Order: sequence, then C-alpha cells, then structure tokens
Amino acid sequence: MSSRQPTWLVTGGAGFIGRALVRQLLSQQPRRRVVVIDAMTYAAHPVALDGLAELGDLEVVEGDIADSALVERLMERLRPELVLNLAAESHVDRSLRDSTPFLRTNIIGTQVLLQAALRHAVGRFVQVSTDEVYGDRRGLRAAREGDAVRPSNPYSISKACADSLLQAAVRSHGLDAVVTRGCNTYGPGQFPEKLLPLAALRWSRGQPMWVYGDGQQERTWIHVDDHAAGILAAATSGRSGGIYHLRHGAPRSNEQTLRDWHAALGVAGAVDELLQESADRPGHDRRYALSDAKTRRELGWRPSTPWKRGLSATARWLHHYPRFWDSALGRADFARYFEGQYGTSWSPSP
Ligand code: NAD
Repeated sequence: MSSRQPTWLVTGGAGFIGRALVRQLLSQQPRRRVVVIDAMTYAAHPVALDGLAELGDLEVVEGDIADSALVERLMERLRPELVLNLAAESHVDRSLRDSTPFLRTNIIGTQVLLQAALRHAVGRFVQVSTDEVYGDRRGLRAAREGDAVRPSNPYSISKACADSLLQAAVRSHGLDAVVTRGCNTYGPGQFPEKLLPLAALRWSRGQPMWVYGDGQQERTWIHVDDHAAGILAAATSGRSGGIYHLRHGAPRSNEQTLRDWHAALGVAGAVDELLQESADRPGHDRRYALSDAKTRRELGWRPSTPWKRGLSATARWLHHYPRFWDSALGRADFARYFEGQYGTSWSPSP
C-alpha cells in the first residue's frame, strides 16, 4: 500500500468558487493534501488563499493549466487521486470582446489536464461546467442531463467543448470522470465585473446599475458554498461518466434579482432610480433552467442557503470588506475593459 498522502489537485482554486471549495475540502477532508494550480489572472484575489493553510495541508502553485510541460511535471510529482478543474475564463461579456483566452484556458487547458490525468492514472477527474452549455431555454422545459448542448456565446461554447473532450476521454480511454453543471453563483469574494458585486459597487458610489435590455432574462442562482458542496458531492459520490446539475430555486428575472439585491444591501435611494436600462448583450440568452432531480436522487445533495438569507450574508460580507478588490480595480487593464464594455470611464476611487 502506498504511503503517499492522497492529494487532490484543484485548478482555479484562487477564484470565486475555487476558494469556497478549497476551504470546504481542507476543513472536511483533513487526511487529504490539497494542491491548487492557478494562473492568478485578474479574477484571482492576490491573497485569496491566505489563511486557508491553517485549515490543513495546502500548497499553491502559480501556473497555467494550458502549459503542458508544467502540468506534466505537476502530475508526475503529485500523482493526484482526484483533479477538480475549475480554472476558467468565466465572464461572458469578456468572451464577446475577445474569445481567445477562453478557447485557450477552457478548451486547451482542459485537454492538457485530461491527457496528463490519463498518463498518470488519476483516480477521478471532475469538470466544473455551467448551465449555459444548454443555451437559451426560452419556451423549453428545464434542461436534463441527457439533453443536447446548444451553447450560444464563446464562453459557453468553450465550456461545452471542454465537457465534450472529457466525455470523449471517458468513452475512449475509460477515464473516471464526472461533470457538474451549476447555475449562476453568488456570494462573498466574487470579482466585481459580475452582476451582483458590480451593482453593489456602483450603488455604493451613488451610481445607477445597468440592466441589459428589458431586464427580463431569467437566471437561477445558487450560493457559492452550496455550489462548492455540490461539486464535492459529485466528486465523492457521483457515478463515473455522470453529469450533475447544481441549482437552487426557480429562475428569476435579472431585474427582480437586482431589486432583491438592492433590498439586501439596504442602499440609500429608490431602486427605480438606481436601475438604468442599457443596450442588451448581443445574442443574450433569455433563460437558463436546469432540472436537478437526478442530482438530488443520486447524490443526496441539497443546497441549504435560501436566496434572501444568502443575499443578506453577502451584503454583510461586503460591508466588512468594502475595499477587497481595490488592488484589482485600480489596474489599467480593468479600466480599459470597463470603458470598452460600458462606454464610460472607470475611476478607481469614488
Ligand atoms: P473565476 O473567474 O472567479 O475564477 C477562475 C479562476 O481560474 C481564477 O482564479 C483564475 O486565476 C484561474 N485561471 C484562469 N485561467 C487560468 C489558467 N489558464 N490556468 C490556471 N488558472 C486559471 O471563476 P468562478 O466563478 O470561480 O468559476 C469557477 C468555475 O465554475 C469555472 O469553470 C466556471 O466556468 C464555473 N461556473 C461558474 C459559475 C458562476 O456563476 N460563477 C456558474 C457555473 C459554473
């Protein structure tokens, strides 16, 4: 029997969902060693993982999952029992401006990991994917795991492609792997280009938040801790080759989401004055909806953070850490992205 401590490799562990997952892993699975590989892009907080080493055995490697030599060396050294692949370019608006990093990280990066996982006989590979791979569910029932994917923007196309590469590795090479497809995720520490933290930032400066188009696009929301717990449930109890949907509650419109968020934050000013209609995102999917019946049946997993309680807890976190993202938001690349995206200049301080 090997004396090697079982190691789980988490890619993208310094990102929003990755951090929550690493925290849960370290506190719930103390026998395991956790190694994070993360390229520390703009979406990773520089001190994201500080303090987590106190919870257990954690190593952080700064590196790119599309760098095959680096990944090969890492897999050779670690021979991980399990790989959880969360590393990704994750923002749809950015993918519409420049899809190249999306194709590189989300597709090539996943393929590099899959090939190395096969060479080094990794016990299980978990691919963290998204409800967006099913494309626009307007007028359709909630997507089930066997439904065809119909992604419609470069982000979701890159994620669907990664899922297909994984399924090919299962089919052709017998890789033990599962895919999770989660819905929109919210909670502490999300980069403020995404809907809820961006709205909080704008409102804290007395500025209105943009609502794309008529605001009636529907999304389902899950708290980041529930999403992370669902990924771990699929990792430990999922059937090889299985796809598991992670969602909470029913789809709600973006406008209603912002209204609920405004109430949770207790922002001064009438919500109607703080919502500003803007041109719709090109090709914007109208509705995403997932069925999670199979996940609940097979994994016994249940999300436990009700929407309004989760929003209030996230608002409290923001009150405690109002300057969490200051270093990232002060960078010239963020100002360039912001101005290109919203046609108005970004000033780092209010
Ligand atoms: P995020 O953008 O907050 O974090 C992504 C992390 O990946 C960052 O730490 C970044 O530095 C890292 N990364 C990017 N490119 C890399 C590369 N080439 N090599 C190594 N690391 C790299 O994303 P998130 O919201 O935490 O999402 C995590 C995963 O969950 C993604 O795969 C995403 O597609 C999926 N997902 C997210 C949501 C959501 O609403 N946030 C919903 C469903 C699925």
